Amino acid sequence: RFDGLIERVAVSVDLVELHISDRIGTTIGHSDPSRVGERLVGSAVGVFESPHASRAFGDLLRGQAIYGASAPVMGGTRVLGVVGIRFRSDEISQRIGRILASAVGMGLVWLLIGAVVGSIYVRRITQPLTLLTTAAGAITRGELDGVHLDPPQTLDEVGVLQSSFLHLVVALRDERGKTERLLAELERMNVRLRDRVEEVTADLRATSGYLQSVIHCMEEGVITCDAEGDIVQANRGAAQQLRGFVRPDPGVAVAALLPDPEPLVEAVERAIAAGATTRLELERRAAPAADPEHEHVDGVALGGLRTVGFRVNPLHGADRTTLGALITVIDLTDARLVDAQLRRHDRLISLGTIAAGLAHELGNYMHTINGFSALLQASTADDDPRRPDVDAVHNENLRAVALLDRFLEFARPSAERFQAAHVGGLVREALDVCAWKLRQAEVEVDLRLDPDEGTVVCDSRSLLQVLVNLIFNAADAMAGREPRRLRLQTCQDGERVRIIVRDTGSGICAEHLDRIFDPFFTTKAAGGTGLGLSIAHQIVDRHGGRIQVRSEPQAGATFTVTLPAGGPTRDGQRNGDRGRHRGGGAA
Ligand code: ADP
Repeated sequence: RFDGLIERVAVSVDLVELHISDRIGTTIGHSDPSRVGERLVGSAVGVFESPHASRAFGDLLRGQAIYGASAPVMGGTRVLGVVGIRFRSDEISQRIGRILASAVGMGLVWLLIGAVVGSIYVRRITQPLTLLTTAAGAITRGELDGVHLDPPQTLDEVGVLQSSFLHLVVALRDERGKTERLLAELERMNVRLRDRVEEVTADLRATSGYLQSVIHCMEEGVITCDAEGDIVQANRGAAQQLRGFVRPDPGVAVAALLPDPEPLVEAVERAIAAGATTRLELERRAAPAADPEHEHVDGVALGGLRTVGFRVNPLHGADRTTLGALITVIDLTDARLVDAQLRRHDRLISLGTIAAGLAHELGNYMHTINGFSALLQASTADDDPRRPDVDAVHNENLRAVALLDRFLEFARPSAERFQAAHVGGLVREALDVCAWKLRQAEVEVDLRLDPDEGTVVCDSRSLLQVLVNLIFNAADAMAGREPRRLRLQTCQDGERVRIIVRDTGSGICAEHLDRIFDPFFTTKAAGGTGLGLSIAHQIVDRHGGRIQVRSEPQAGATFTVTLPAGGPTRDGQRNGDRGRHRGGGAA
């Protein structure tokens, strides 16, 4: 049925295959009659198969491409079957070849154009941008001098960017110049500032050093403690004033300074908590000096009971916060001894005044009695039974006159002649005078004379009297005791010469210590007048010196006579006297 149709088609094209199939896919007509009756895979759906054209590019170019097409055969809206054709066409192949050739040509042209445009892009945009990036990197690293940029060639965006960048570099160089100038100025100011700081620091150091040395040179003790009551600083004076107690080193608690420290600790606590200032005078027992020869330091007697004065103030910081307490310390032992001596001196003066008048009056009567008793004695025969009574009256009267003369000596001393003398010589002379007494009492003498001692200007007769009296008293105090050792020592310390008389006798109880210099105070049952020490006191006083005693019962006694080296000055005031003790007649 379809042969005519197939022939007509075969005439018009180079037919490879033409097939017609019904709607269920059975080939009902075919250019190859042997294939009629074959089943088409997918039946009429084969309409939607791709045409069987060769897609090989080479086939196309060689004109060997096979083109194919299929289409449904419709009867109204019903699919009746499928017709498919495959054929070769030189004309189509040639046309496709031409199109392909022109497409390749166009492609090459566009590639060329792209390459040209690319190179222009690289030259005009990428290269300047790379240079700019490198320059930016150099700027970031601070290598501003290493940035070399050519002026822009064009005024497009890149050119504008380049020129802005160049301006930026110039501005940065300017800024760097300014910064360098500022830095140089800053450096100069820095140097000036450093010099000034060094100057001020040196000033501060000098001021602080000056203050420190003032504080350290002070005789008074200065101690600072923190809020816990521990010592922060103490000057040399503090250690000196507290000799014999615990050394006030930094870190030592105030409470550990001396025995029974409660009043001092309370004063420190009051200063810290309430900002209160407290004055204290404490009497405490100090440890004796390790070496008894150094028991006096700067006039301060070490060991035994000592009177120490404290003044406790709050210590404020610059912002008024309380840092701790400031304690000033002064050893008042010597001052209190001087006070006692002054009181005694006053007592002696008034006693002396009264006694002098009385003694003068009594003396008149007694000298009269003496004259008459002498006459009575002369007119009474030796074998007269009344003779012993007359002798007794006369002798007792003589003793009374002698006592009265001694007393008048105390009340109205005879004229003294001051001359320079070595105390060592006077001590030796006194020992000679007392030799018989010391031998009799079997006293061992330990003489320690300072080879460097200077002279004192004194009335040597009076001073000898003082020393003899002290030696006699020492010998009396050691009678019947063991050991019996008398030490006589001289030493010079600056403006003062000291004579120390120490014995191992009975000692003096506290109650008597204050009275032994009073006239007529004696504990001796027989032979004591109680005038020796009061006369000694008077004499030493007239020499501008002082006499001190330290003793405890059963522990011996130490009498120290301190005299100004060089003696009294022309106006009658003694060296080292400071105007308190006047020479001349005390009564
Ligand atoms: P007197 O020797 O006539 O008693 P003093 O004035 O010399 O008078 O002494 C007064 C008192 O001081 C003595 O009676 C004695 O109690 C006491 N005294 C003086 N020296 C010593 C001493 N070295 N040891 C103990 N007591 C002393």
